Amino acid sequence: MLDHLTIHEPKSVMEASSLLTEFGSDAAIYAGGTELLVVMKERLIHFPHLINIKTIPGLDSISLDGDSISIGALATHRAIERSALVREHLPLLAELEANVANVRVRSTGTIGGNLCFAEPHSDPATLLMAWDASVVLQSSNSRREIPLSEFFTGLLETSRGQDEVLTAVRIPHPVPVGSAYERFKIHERPTATVAVTLSLSGDMVTGARIVVGSVCDRPVRIRAAEESLIGLSTVRAAEVAAAIVHDEIDPTEDNFESTDYKRHLARVLTTRAIAIATARASGGHRG
Ligand SMILES: Cc1cc2nc3c(=O)[nH]c(=O)nc-3n(C[C@H](O)[C@H](O)[C@H](O)COP(=O)(O)OP(=O)(O)OC[C@H]3O[C@@H](n4cnc5c(N)ncnc54)[C@H](O)[C@@H]3O)c2cc1C
Repeated sequence: MLDHLTIHEPKSVMEASSLLTEFGSDAAIYAGGTELLVVMKERLIHFPHLINIKTIPGLDSISLDGDSISIGALATHRAIERSALVREHLPLLAELEANVANVRVRSTGTIGGNLCFAEPHSDPATLLMAWDASVVLQSSNSRREIPLSEFFTGLLETSRGQDEVLTAVRIPHPVPVGSAYERFKIHERPTATVAVTLSLSGDMVTGARIVVGSVCDRPVRIRAAEESLIGLSTVRAAEVAAAIVHDEIDPTEDNFESTDYKRHLARVLTTRAIAIATARASGGHRG
């Protein structure tokens, strides 16, 4: 049961932002509602004003704009999974989205809601960060684009301003040839995820990004592990990089898995992801 509330139906991002300014901390954006309505029904939080952004036209579009692929904040996981454009240019993302939650959540939950809620067990956040994706944040008087690495600031926390609407995720196009995403899941949401991108010259690594998700309070890039791969063959260096991931991450303590187990999972998933990314990079297979 929800307490009394007013649902606003803005027709533009400007109007949504003005409503956020007007009602301040009494207002929240409402997209698919798969996170928001749960915490409200459990009375963990109450917003007397919900701003339903599904009434804003065009916020769900997916397009290729020159050097980036733009995914509108209201695109659902299911729409991303089924998008012909995503399947052609970002097949790894389409595959990832097909495994998010269950079909009910995938059909309603949006990419914008997933990122803005900043629940650490997010699948897309990990891969998108490895691809150096950014988010577009718009208010009634400004528009800014920031990398995802600057967007997540902590558990359920982002750098989004109170009056800002996340309007799109932008992914640099094309994504690196060698991309891999590995996850371990036994509960409703993933326990550990690792995304790796590799650039190779012959069998030598010339560029790498390694992002670990779900185990810490936000997705984290492990730069020391990335650097350990440069100039080496991944066959020799993968175990070392995975050991660095194991030692560098600072897992969150919870009632589900021990921090040691999370470190172990991150190490195993990193080794696997590097092997897959290497094979894909060698075969010219794009994410
Ligand atoms: C049972 C279950 C299983 C799940 N399993 C997985 C999983 O395996 N992997 C995974 O990655 N995720 C999983 N999720 C999370 C799921 O992906 C999110 O619930 C969904 O994407 C949230 O989107 P939404 O549109 O419903 O957000 P909402 O609930 O509408 O909003 C969430 C939060 O974001 C804010 N918000 C929403 N859109 C915007 C915007 N455009 N701009 C600014 N603020 C905004 C809202 O104010 C609210 O605070 C699961 C969720 C459930 C309920």
